[in-house]
Amino acid sequence: MKYLDEYRQSDGIQKIAAEIHRITTSPWTLMEVCGGQTHAIVRNRLDQLLPKELELVHGPGCPVCVTPLEMLDRAIAVARLPEVIFCSFGDMLRVPGSEHDLLTVKAAGGDIRIVYSPLQAVQIAEQNPTKEIVFFAVGFETTAAANAMAASLAKTKALGNFSMLVSQFLVTPAIESICSAPDSRVQGFLAAGHVCSITGYERYLPLAEKYRIPIVITGFEPLDILEGILMCVDQLEQGACQVQNQYRRAVERVGNRQAQDLIQSVFRISTQHWRGVGSIPQSGLSFNDEFASLDATVKFDINNIKTTERHDCMSGDIMLGHKKPKDCPHFGKECRPEQPLGAPMVSSEGACSAYYRYSQQERSNEHPVPATLKN
Ligand code: SF4
Repeated sequence: MKYLDEYRQSDGIQKIAAEIHRITTSPWTLMEVCGGQTHAIVRNRLDQLLPKELELVHGPGCPVCVTPLEMLDRAIAVARLPEVIFCSFGDMLRVPGSEHDLLTVKAAGGDIRIVYSPLQAVQIAEQNPTKEIVFFAVGFETTAAANAMAASLAKTKALGNFSMLVSQFLVTPAIESICSAPDSRVQGFLAAGHVCSITGYERYLPLAEKYRIPIVITGFEPLDILEGILMCVDQLEQGACQVQNQYRRAVERVGNRQAQDLIQSVFRISTQHWRGVGSIPQSGLSFNDEFASLDATVKFDINNIKTTERHDCMSGDIMLGHKKPKDCPHFGKECRPEQPLGAPMVSSEGACSAYYRYSQQERSNEHPVPATLKN
């Protein structure tokens, strides 16, 4: 497959891995920010190709994992209402809320529909004028553009029965928050390529300078990730702290201006709570005044729902790079994908699910580097 197979070939992988070994003289800790990168690393066992001095830790870039508990409980409350058709990406359905998850509501008869795009939810609103359609708008800058488009479309069509439960995150403030934490172990970042395809990477330049830390915009294929690691280690070994773009085939310095304008026309920047991590100023998006009528939290009066975290999930420590999934005492015991205690075990981008899923496969596959690595 053109543009993919060439980034998965074993000989290229081996060559870059050998180069990483050659240049690494000190222990370094790198964070891959995005859960998609974490899955690619664990699935292809790229970490096993690295020198023992290099440690990869996993960042907060899993939108399902960081969606705050209170927002999940609000989603559950709205989805229970008989007049509501609740639309969501499938990943959100099994994430534990205070008492239940959305799947429990669906099993009890709630009209919850899995959609693959917010525009599908707008279509459902058009087709069901007597129902209230609520879309669970979660994610980073990559989904914000599509969500903004759906909000604009609903407004243009004057759909009074459409609203959105917005839980949108911005990656750069989260990286800054990690950089500024006194206990952070992270010495270099592999930034999420798909987010940067929207935002560009100019905003990382002052961060790299201020915190004297290398940031490499990195793609998602095995070769992308190893190249990103090589570039990052090379900087660390030389005492450099630049922003470099490994993912040139998708990312430009200024990003996608059209998508940025669309996002700005619908949302304003706000303080956002990240599940497991806490509140980070200016790290989220909320509707601006013009689109406030689409805010489901106002429409359904669900802001005062009480929430309770029920267990000792250490997802925050994992997403800030302090711990690894297997450090959690619940991993693979009380917490498994079919019975998750925390979102990182159930999300397709969660670090715990990656470790659980691929460590099961590892037992039946002894070859560390197949000829063509997996997607
Ligand atoms: S294994 Fe489960 S309980 Fe432990 S950190 Fe991961 S999601 Fe949370």
